[in-house]
Amino acid sequence: MIVEMRTGATKKEVDDVVQKAKSFELGVQLNVGTDKTVVALLGSNTGQIPTDIFAVLPGVESVTRIMKPYKLASREFQPKNTIVKCGGVEIGGERIVVMAGPCAVESEAQLMEAAAAVKKAGASILRGGAFKPRTSPFSFQGLQKKGLELLSKAREKYSLPIVTEVVNPQDVELVATYADMLQIGSRNMQNFALLTNAGRSKRPVVLKRGFSCTVTEWLTAADYLLAEGTDQVILCERGIRTFEDSIRFSLDISAIPVLKRNSHLPVIIDPSHAAGHYTLVPAIAKAAVAAGADGLLIEVHPNPKEALVDGLQSLSTSDFTRLMNELRAIAKSVGRYI
Ligand code: PEP
Ligand code: MN
Repeated sequence: MIVEMRTGATKKEVDDVVQKAKSFELGVQLNVGTDKTVVALLGSNTGQIPTDIFAVLPGVESVTRIMKPYKLASREFQPKNTIVKCGGVEIGGERIVVMAGPCAVESEAQLMEAAAAVKKAGASILRGGAFKPRTSPFSFQGLQKKGLELLSKAREKYSLPIVTEVVNPQDVELVATYADMLQIGSRNMQNFALLTNAGRSKRPVVLKRGFSCTVTEWLTAADYLLAEGTDQVILCERGIRTFEDSIRFSLDISAIPVLKRNSHLPVIIDPSHAAGHYTLVPAIAKAAVAAGADGLLIEVHPNPKEALVDGLQSLSTSDFTRLMNELRAIAKSVGRYI
């Protein structure tokens, strides 16, 4: 951390900064220029110390972080890629893992038809929302416990592990008894009570990026999960809010190499929520595989026209099958397989 003193800061003001640093057991390096003094604070934990502690001191002009505020999610902490295991499927290795299924579980017939089709096309994990985080309280909220039971039935019938969203900290235990993997949605990325409970659940967790959050905030949120002693966390980019309004969300494809550089956690892409329209999903999915994603989370519905949630962005089972074949070729060209 670098503390820049104001022009004309007194010796006492500089000494107070040094004393404060020492109270945190930080090393100090003074750089006295002709006009200004700059104090470098040294220590392996400066990323976890709030900059405000120094910024409020008299005579301080600015405080700049050098260390990242996240720790457990960082590559410095764990140089090797983490492999996440979900019901026998490994995410983060050579294989690109496709998780697919409906946005929401709507009925037994709908879920079973979706599960059969995505399995046949080569998906290795079934997705489906039982608890839905809806913008309006009057929209379909999901089948909840009944939805979890149907997911569990689909897992037995099609031998597909299931990933499903948990919205509420109090529901983590319930969802974890049914799901192989928990999903924390974009709107809940910084729901810290939910993160803590999910981290304790002994289930792997897909942490979606908040659509208004930076990569640094996202990795710092991942630290909440990892702080509970698990390393089974997957990061899922699903598009962010920008000025662009020709698409539902702008998919930040550059987040893939940025995360790969800064973190050891597997990275997957959800092209469906970014696209908002089924015609846009395949190109984004293919770009993600080419850019180094470890997996994809794709919405597939046996009859998108009748879907209760996100029908416009859901692929039909035949469009999904075609996409899987195209993805295999892209995966091969980057030394991976599906
Ligand atoms: C979902 O996966 O259906 C979902 C609600 O996603 P997000 O949290 O990315 O909006
Ligand atoms: Mn959805």
